[in-house]
Amino acid sequence: MSQSKRLLAELNPAQRQAVETLAGPLLVLAGAGTGKTRVVTYRMANLILHGTPPQRMLAVTFTRKAAGEMLARLKRLIRLRGNRCPTVGTFHSLCLEILRRHAPRLGFPRGFAIYDRGDQLGVIRSVLRELATGGVGFRPADLAALFSTWKAQGLWPHQAAAKALDDRTHVAAMIYRRYQNTLRLAGAMDFDDLLLMTERLFEEHPQVLEEEAARFDHVLVDEYQDTNPPQYRIIRRLAAPHGNFCAVGDDDQSIYSWRGAEVEHILRFRRDWPQARIVRLEENYRSTQPILDMANRVIAFNLARHPKKLRSARGPGPKPRIVAYEDEEEEARGTVAQIQAAVRSRQARPGDHAVLFRTNDQLRPFEAELRRVGLDYTVVGSTSFFDRKEVRDLLAYLKLVQRPEDDVALLRVINTPGRGIGQQTVESLLACSVRQSRPVWRVLNDPQWLGGLSPRVQQAVKEFAALVEQLRHQARSGCEMHPLLEQLIRQTDYPREIQRISKTQDEARQRQQAVEGLLETAAAFDREHTAGGLREFLDQVAVADRAFATAENERFDADKVVLITLHGAKGLEFPRVFFVGLEEGLLPHRHSLAEGDRAIDEERRLCYVGITRAQDVLVLSYCRHRTRRGRRRPSTPSRFLYEAAGQADMARQVAQLAGQVAAREQTSR
Ligand code: ATP
Ligand code: MG
Repeated sequence: MSQSKRLLAELNPAQRQAVETLAGPLLVLAGAGTGKTRVVTYRMANLILHGTPPQRMLAVTFTRKAAGEMLARLKRLIRLRGNRCPTVGTFHSLCLEILRRHAPRLGFPRGFAIYDRGDQLGVIRSVLRELATGGVGFRPADLAALFSTWKAQGLWPHQAAAKALDDRTHVAAMIYRRYQNTLRLAGAMDFDDLLLMTERLFEEHPQVLEEEAARFDHVLVDEYQDTNPPQYRIIRRLAAPHGNFCAVGDDDQSIYSWRGAEVEHILRFRRDWPQARIVRLEENYRSTQPILDMANRVIAFNLARHPKKLRSARGPGPKPRIVAYEDEEEEARGTVAQIQAAVRSRQARPGDHAVLFRTNDQLRPFEAELRRVGLDYTVVGSTSFFDRKEVRDLLAYLKLVQRPEDDVALLRVINTPGRGIGQQTVESLLACSVRQSRPVWRVLNDPQWLGGLSPRVQQAVKEFAALVEQLRHQARSGCEMHPLLEQLIRQTDYPREIQRISKTQDEARQRQQAVEGLLETAAAFDREHTAGGLREFLDQVAVADRAFATAENERFDADKVVLITLHGAKGLEFPRVFFVGLEEGLLPHRHSLAEGDRAIDEERRLCYVGITRAQDVLVLSYCRHRTRRGRRRPSTPSRFLYEAAGQADMARQVAQLAGQVAAREQTSR
């Protein structure tokens, strides 16, 4: 049998039709677990077998993790000759690559910095301080979220200002403008800018677009339902010259409308690509029928959707269970006990289990309980890793080593760990830098400025500069990332800083673990990129999924229970799923309660995503009480539980009640 035939034999007729479509626009619109991602992978393999060079293909997925898995699967399907690989990445990693090639055309240095959330907040705070009104009543985190929402809609400051309906939004748009200016002056972009700037690049420089589009003959996108407007326009432009554009998605799993993702993109596909072939997949290969029955019942409550029902190719299985617990501690104990029992009786391995939750606040009791009983676990979808102080400190050093003009990085570490450079010195440094409009790094090395310092401080500043120079030298001479980072940790005596700032031994251990996590990430990078340098490493970290914050190449370990958010679990599957915290206020989340039906529909899709992750066993649970803001309060089972159980009346009553409570909370605020 030819290789191509063998590939096709592993597909059902509808999938085969998609995989055998070798040219032109193609949309695969289908429910969860029907093999959409499989179609993308097999189609790439089939294209290669039919002569498309691998490097002429671009595949975009939603997370780096998913991208890694797709490439691994592809390599299992066919042998890629030489080192020729398709480009498989996320929108952000794709845009970053493009911008690294062309940033100077937009007035940015080629080595522009990428600001993470912490850097963003720092810039916003400084802008607020500069405002005459002191930015009354604005919280930096709220502004960061608002800017992100604007950017997800593709709005630049002047467009945001034009759309502002009230004074407050108008002021926010003004702050947005200043924020963008500050970033530009610093030669930096934030995460969302990667998309916006790429779009601008394509608009202002058609020849660049032409050049970038010419790199590929095929463009494929997974999870198409969650592309936001800039992403949608970027990918459409890249695919336009050849029209070989394959998108796969499921409108029922759109869970990022808060980021500006629009289900309409899927629905608009036919208009954009009139000759498009549309394939629907019906059979679900992931879950047993009772699990799908539950998923079907829940999602049917969303009115604005293409009606479709999931049908299991796997047949019957145990019914999903719904369990009530007294509170979150008991929920954690009960859940972990079931996992432990399955592991002890060798029914399943720890890694077959996933605990799905809506928010990171739900994590703590599960972690504590798993530790207590001695089960290994891995937390996926917690934003915490790259937001941790230790990780940000060390990364700031590396950014500084890469680009000494990065003022934000410099100011973060100039006295961390403490080296006797006080606030006064820093202020003088800043004032001087502003006055002379020179980067802080230059001022710092200016003998005239240094001369004004006390000998002790002078010494400290010089040692700091020397340390950075030395690491720079090491990085330039092609040093790998792991040794570089180790060197940095040793030279700054970072472990002592950890001891100094930790209040308990437990805290110190956690911080140490985070440092080790970063070292692991560096080692993994060295293994994968024999020719990679510091810039590539920082780029990779910058676009690493916030949702998959552990080391890049970490496989889900068979010996580790997976703790994962619903958002992070998209596209994944697990034999045994514990979907916890199904309570009003958590799922649907309290933010959505005040926002009305559209928001509730999105929470319902999230619930649907959760249910459809399960292959064999599904347990849903809720607590009668939950501690929130330090107070134990009664909680109500989620309306989705009633919907799942087919009790529409009860679901409606719960929804009404919750709506009233939310309204009361609003007015009392
Ligand atoms: P999601 O909507 O959750 O992203 P999906 O539509 O992308 O799901 P896949 O992850 O591609 O679905 O497939 C779900 C599972 O079904 C996988 O384990 C996959 O290997 C398996 N599968 C898909 N198609 C077939 C098939 N024709 N024969 C056997 N197994 C299949
Ligand atoms: Mg998928």
